[in-house]
Amino acid sequence: MRAFATGAKSVKSKRGSATALLSYSNFNIDKKGDTYKIVEATSNRVFFGAGSDVTVLSVAQYFCELCAFFGPQDETAHEFLRVVLNSLYLMTEKKRNPALIKAITELRICAISGYAPDLVACSVCGDYRENAMYFMIDNGALICENCKKENAIRLSSTVLDAMRHIVYSDIENLYSFNIPEKDISALEKITEKYIVFQSEHRFSTLDFYHSVR
Ligand SMILES: [Zn+2]
Repeated sequence: MRAFATGAKSVKSKRGSATALLSYSNFNIDKKGDTYKIVEATSNRVFFGAGSDVTVLSVAQYFCELCAFFGPQDETAHEFLRVVLNSLYLMTEKKRNPALIKAITELRICAISGYAPDLVACSVCGDYRENAMYFMIDNGALICENCKKENAIRLSSTVLDAMRHIVYSDIENLYSFNIPEKDISALEKITEKYIVFQSEHRFSTLDFYHSVR
């Protein structure tokens, strides 16, 4: 939800750090007409680590924009919150590769938000053992070498395994894998294309990310 934090930028404001960028906080909120106003705010955690690296900062800001776009409204959002907080934590404090954390976050948020791709088997013939598998961005389906259509993107077995892990693993194990740099780069391109296509949205923070890389 969007809420105003009146006076949050003034030095004396107690709400200051709790309403700063990349703060995870508790809020007491007042509703007046159609607008919400933050009455009280206490900070749980501020992800300071993001500020030292411009790539990390740009990805962290992108996660905030994903929250604003995909975050469920007027309902609890435990898994969504966990994904975003874990991603911020691992990227800023544990210095995990921001491109990999970005890919995990993009694909898992798609899965939570009703855009889960179907990565079990070829969507035409049902084969799941075929060596060469392709992914279709427009319908989130897999397709094998024999059934392949135009615009399908070839997946290495490492990238396909990573995508399956991101979509189907328990949240506890979501981040517990690593893949080589070249596969991260291929994975990240696919997850980004997929989330942009499915949301039909242009994320300005994503443009910023590409401009600083
Ligand atoms: Zn097939």
